[in-house]
Amino acid sequence: LNTYTRASLPRNMIENTMFEEEPDVVDLAKDSTALEPDEVVYEPRSSRLLVRGLGENDLDDEEEDYESSARLLGMSFMNRSSTHNSSSSPYNRQAPPRLCSCPSARMLVVGVFILVLVASMAMALYFLPGCTFTKAGCGKANSSIPMEPSYPNSTNGELFPWNELRLPASVRPVNYDLSLTPNLTSMTFTGRTVINMTILHDTKRIVLHSSELIITKATFQVSVEVKVLEYKPWQQIAVSFLEDLKVGQVCVLTLDYAANLSHTYDGFYNSSYNDKTGAKRVLAATQFEPQAARKAFPCFDEPAFKATFLVRITREPGYITLSNMPQVLCVCVCVGLLEDEFEQTAVNMSTYLVAFIVANFTSITRNVSNTLVSVYSVPEKKEHTHYALDTASTLLHFYNTFFHIDYPLRKLDLVAIPDFLAGAMENWGLITFRETSLLVGNQSSPLDKQLIANVVAHELAHQWFGNLVTMRWWNDLWLNEGFATYWQYTSLMTEFPQLDLDNVFLGVRFKAMAKDSLNSSHPVSVSSQVTTPEQVSEMFDSVTYEKGASLLLMLKTTLPDGQFRKGIIKYLDNYRGSNTVTEDLWNSLTQVGVQESVSDMMRTWTLQNGFPLVTVSRKGGHVTLTQEPFLLSADNATHTSNLWHIPVTYVNDNCSSAPSSTLNVSDSVKWLKLNYMNTGFYIVHYGDEGWATLIDALKTDINTLTPHDRASLIHNIFALSRLGRVSFRQVLNLLDYTTNETETAPLTEALSQLSSVYRLLDKRQEQRLLVYIWGHFGQLMDSQDWGEEESVSRQELRSVLLEMACSLGRQNCTDQATALYDQWTNSNQTKQIPGDLQQVVFSTAAQADLRWLSLMEAYSSTTYDSEKRKILQALASTQDPRSIVWILSTGLEGGIIQTQELPLVISTVSDGFAGHLLVWDFVKENWDRIIEKFPVGSYPIQSIIKSTTSQFSTQTHLEEVQGFFSSLKERGSQMRSVQESLETIRLNQLWMDRNLPTLRIWL
Ligand SMILES: [Zn+2]
Repeated sequence: LNTYTRASLPRNMIENTMFEEEPDVVDLAKDSTALEPDEVVYEPRSSRLLVRGLGENDLDDEEEDYESSARLLGMSFMNRSSTHNSSSSPYNRQAPPRLCSCPSARMLVVGVFILVLVASMAMALYFLPGCTFTKAGCGKANSSIPMEPSYPNSTNGELFPWNELRLPASVRPVNYDLSLTPNLTSMTFTGRTVINMTILHDTKRIVLHSSELIITKATFQVSVEVKVLEYKPWQQIAVSFLEDLKVGQVCVLTLDYAANLSHTYDGFYNSSYNDKTGAKRVLAATQFEPQAARKAFPCFDEPAFKATFLVRITREPGYITLSNMPQVLCVCVCVGLLEDEFEQTAVNMSTYLVAFIVANFTSITRNVSNTLVSVYSVPEKKEHTHYALDTASTLLHFYNTFFHIDYPLRKLDLVAIPDFLAGAMENWGLITFRETSLLVGNQSSPLDKQLIANVVAHELAHQWFGNLVTMRWWNDLWLNEGFATYWQYTSLMTEFPQLDLDNVFLGVRFKAMAKDSLNSSHPVSVSSQVTTPEQVSEMFDSVTYEKGASLLLMLKTTLPDGQFRKGIIKYLDNYRGSNTVTEDLWNSLTQVGVQESVSDMMRTWTLQNGFPLVTVSRKGGHVTLTQEPFLLSADNATHTSNLWHIPVTYVNDNCSSAPSSTLNVSDSVKWLKLNYMNTGFYIVHYGDEGWATLIDALKTDINTLTPHDRASLIHNIFALSRLGRVSFRQVLNLLDYTTNETETAPLTEALSQLSSVYRLLDKRQEQRLLVYIWGHFGQLMDSQDWGEEESVSRQELRSVLLEMACSLGRQNCTDQATALYDQWTNSNQTKQIPGDLQQVVFSTAAQADLRWLSLMEAYSSTTYDSEKRKILQALASTQDPRSIVWILSTGLEGGIIQTQELPLVISTVSDGFAGHLLVWDFVKENWDRIIEKFPVGSYPIQSIIKSTTSQFSTQTHLEEVQGFFSSLKERGSQMRSVQESLETIRLNQLWMDRNLPTLRIWL
């Protein structure tokens, strides 16, 4: 994290008690350098941690000492530069003043505590079962002892010789030889797959995956024609043998087949776009994750069945083909048809990472340490590929160096696909993207570029975390996605500090907590069943990605400097080319000297869902910390015994009169803020007094705390209000300080929290919050500049402020936005709108009928993808019911608005007052068509359910949502997102009951 300079740390470190068995009471008065375990006094019988004797330690101010204390503690600190420049720009991050120089001095003390595991017995029981912590991942599910009587019937009526969703482990694929002949006119393809396998256990059957393929011929070994049985519900095919295939035997199965190019977004699917002459161009691309390789070729479609692949694709001369590896050969197969052959993969890889494309794309390329990096797009967007190439080149170099393992392929293609559902997909050597996730004009704003950089950094990180080392099964998907998300922010903070990713990462941690505070959440590493396609799809959620990344950050900041990286390098090195379970990660950390207790700590975070609420209470110098699960709906008693090993950090105001130094905390310490920089995954309640002292401190001097800590307080108090621990009035008391706030992180957090409360109230026709918002933020909103702005952080803040102002109808804002829009149209779109203001300008314009129509024209004509997406969002923000209905159905149809954008359209419509009921009706009526496009459980479906139901707050709506989803049966009633949605409505209802009466009185 070289965004920050190393901290100058005050001493008086709290003992690092994390490595003790059951520490309970920590003596703060002890000298920091004496890290003797026996100084830890235990207070059994409760889950309390007592920080006592906030005593009279002397500090001196040599920085090296601080550094070494930090190392001793095994902590890593972030701090930003020195004290006295906070006035330079209100938008720069503020640096906490160095050391204690009154009156604004503060102490930063960071320590690691364990909050006691009272229920250690229970935890032990929790850990013991299964094969080291991840039952589903331990391979037992693969063992082949079928219960004979319950074999299902194949399509042809014969018994299918297998009865589990997971494939038997008796056969292992070694190499696939794939030949594909797509026909972009008939939208069909034929294929031949030759699979070389070895037999691991004697068996009479070969079972593999195949979905929607018509197998026309099957040959075993060289020439024995065999019969293929198919069991469609589980997307499996099988070949049975009379004699055992013997262990060690090498077998070859050749399957010829035919299929349609998929018209949804997975498998081998067709896509189209209109070129600059308006002519329709077609292409075919793949999307195999999580379980769709089986739709393009018969295969052992589980991540642990790694093999090598050789791909051949036939094409017409007007097209190019791409696959994971470089092309080696092109032969003419018959008149007008060419066959491209690609090198056999140099590495073993999982089926979901195989990819191929047939299209008329063009590219730009660059050589980066022995890898040819290319960015492909449709020809007319070639100019928009440069930023992606620059970013990918820088990041490839960064990861190569950082991980100490070079990217193993000779080429790396990044391809923008005109119609693509996910943001991007990390296929090895052939990363595919949505156009909006890869292409950006040179003139685009840094905020637009930030999005591209994020996606590129995420997918590149996958080349190591996911591709090189792959989770054994989808229950441990966080090993792929949590890591890729973590590296995405970390690499960008290092390589592109100007993109201001630390604010984004903070927001991501808040977002993960929102989801993880519901009963419907799941552990990051799931030990329960993850077998059906829906269950696998549902693993791709905010918990897996964002909580996963947050936990890695917490781990990183808990370990001594450099140890996390060492452990990660070890992990990659140990398991390159193979598959892992979560426990392998902890073992690798232990191998580089990380104490076993760190693994114990992390298990409490990865194996149970939710996170702790830490309550602070103080009596003079005695600080008691208690923990309990932070669970919004406490109707599930099973969670209440959950405990976590919490690496607690804190900062306080200690400031003695002696310059430079004494940590005299006991009586003089006025306030204490836990979770420094919010790097820990927990929420803190300070009690009435504790909050009051913090609020006082902020009112006296806003720079008392870092912007991240201020954002953390705002986030925590809103969460506590939702939990019913503090009143909404207390929330607003804290927010009073924000009239002096100028930093992006705290302001965007406050505004996003207020805006979700506002939207909820608005749906009940309660607009009281508006006066409050104008009172507190109106001036700041009005004072925003509408010209070009360089700082990304400032752009973020400005866009949030103005989008809120304009959407709530603040005249000053809407006037300015409209004027900018009219200038833009009158100048024939040559007078640019600053990128970060485009959204607010377009959305404001879209509220007037004529401008909505002109936006519609602009939508069809623009080639700038980021602009296009903003225009679409603006169009969907209309409050005119007819336009809303039109845009929803057009989005579902595809064509003018690509179906890939439907989730965005739906969520935008849901936010508005006019559309929120219409869109719910729309989703109910069109459910079957929607799940035809987006698979049940997939991220788009999760998003659609969430956005259409999360603003309901009445019993009637609760029953209606419940009724609708339960009527769906296998078409979606079992989804976790449905549980989440019902839980959210109940919580909204509760919040209203609790707060509406008081809000009415005094807002
Ligand atoms: Zn990913």
